[in-house]
Amino acid sequence: QQASDLFLLTKQDIYKKLKVRPKTAHKGNFGHALLVVGSEGKMGAAVLSAKACMRTGVGLLTVHVPKCGYNIMQTAIPEAMVVVDKKKKSISKICRESTDLEKYTAIGVGCGLGKGEKTVQAFHDLLKSTSMPMVIDADGLNILAENLSWWDFVPKHSILTPHPKEFERLFGRANNPYLRHQLQIAMSIQRQVFIILKGATTCITTPEGKTYFNTQGNAGMATGGSGDVLTGILTSLLAQGYTPEEACCIGTYLHGTSGNMAAKRLSQEAMIAGDIIKYLSKAFRSLH
Ligand code: AMP
Ligand code: MG
Repeated sequence: QQASDLFLLTKQDIYKKLKVRPKTAHKGNFGHALLVVGSEGKMGAAVLSAKACMRTGVGLLTVHVPKCGYNIMQTAIPEAMVVVDKKKKSISKICRESTDLEKYTAIGVGCGLGKGEKTVQAFHDLLKSTSMPMVIDADGLNILAENLSWWDFVPKHSILTPHPKEFERLFGRANNPYLRHQLQIAMSIQRQVFIILKGATTCITTPEGKTYFNTQGNAGMATGGSGDVLTGILTSLLAQGYTPEEACCIGTYLHGTSGNMAAKRLSQEAMIAGDIIKYLSKAFRSLH
């Protein structure tokens, strides 16, 4: 690997990539995201991803959740539209209203999804029914790890957001951090996907073999739900027409910056994932 393939994300890079919202804009200009998320007891992950998605500027958001998530979602985030699954406790089918996937400009899947038999099937159906790059996180990644033949259906240039354990389940264990990075690059190229390996330093690899490092963020973000916030942010950016590469760079930087602002105000100890969402506004203002 050549040094010219390695980049450290800076504020200037992100500033250059961020689009200004035209004065005459309407919500149709900023895309329509679909999040397929949630199951009984894990609706919080769904809510966090949805809130983060809206707070990152998407025009419209539809969330597909199991029946038990309907009231939760409509109450937690009235700005989002909600489509309910036939099943009560987990997602079983990408039902009629959300089947018409054409109307969405980006899809995010996996947060709090669970891995029940029907959910696994629904995930498979979703992969097969679109060629649009999507954001795959959490149980979406775990399901993929258990069904490696489905890689063929993962849309080209999708964004996968594993933490180290999920990475290991998907791609196997490497003996040291250097080999793991080589493995990440190889997988990105071979599968033609963007891989965001999350951690204290987050490492993004692209289908072209480039690597971006994001060092924004802090140990206060090592708390349940932080990753779901990132998924919402990335889905929002994709939906708005940012390329997957731009979405990865802006998304991870914004997430980390927001986390830093939350920690500064609230302390690393007391901050929770929802606070990362609250500070997105300040993070955006610092970048414009
Ligand atoms: P997840 O494990 O899926 O909830 O994702 C955790 C998120 O928080 C990722 O975006 C990580 O990059 C971020 N995060 C966790 N721990 C740290 C840390 N020590 N420093 C910076 N970011 C972190
Ligand atoms: Mg996670």
